[in-house]
Amino acid sequence: MLVRYCVCLLFFYFIIIEFIKSEKGKEKLICNGYMYTFEKFGTEEKSIWKCDQYKKMKCKGRIHSLNNEILKEIQHNHVQDCGNIEAAKAVNLIINMATQNVDLSTRAVISSASTSVS
Ligand SMILES: [Zn+2]
Repeated sequence: MLVRYCVCLLFFYFIIIEFIKSEKGKEKLICNGYMYTFEKFGTEEKSIWKCDQYKKMKCKGRIHSLNNEILKEIQHNHVQDCGNIEAAKAVNLIINMATQNVDLSTRAVISSASTSVS
């Protein structure tokens, strides 16, 4: 199965948003040190992303985006978790490398992914 992989780096009013895929294949959005999971489509084709900590921290942080622009950001009740984001990016990198380098063993993919993260 070929997993389509896409990372977009966008500069918008000095905000960088980045899209990655989790190991479960879910779309994730990273913005300002927070990670979001796609929740649903809102009105006028807006995408609504909920904070990854919504369960753990009962966080109500949300982002409303349209065509990769942030329309609205709802505040979080916690600080950014850069460690979590780096871990998610590493997983994303492994998925990407695993799908593009089918001849490599899993061990080789993981070791080169962790090298590039550290
Ligand atoms: Zn949050």
